Amino acid sequence: MKIVEKYKCDVCGTEYKDRKDATECENGHKKAKKIIKQVHQPHNLNMSGYPLKIEVEMSDGTKLMYKRG
Ligand SMILES: [Zn+2]
Repeated sequence: MKIVEKYKCDVCGTEYKDRKDATECENGHKKAKKIIKQVHQPHNLNMSGYPLKIEVEMSDGTKLMYKRG
């Protein structure tokens, strides 16, 4: 019987045999830093009140628009 050692990315949870792969995975993730803009709909179209889209500034300065599914 062998003990199997694995490394897990703290961001996405993927497991790797190689520590280097897990480190590359963790370092490759870009995280949301702040919400720049929120796009809302009128209450008669969206009773939930949650925004339809949000524009987010990422940790590397890139700005991306995300839409609710
Ligand atoms: Zn990852």
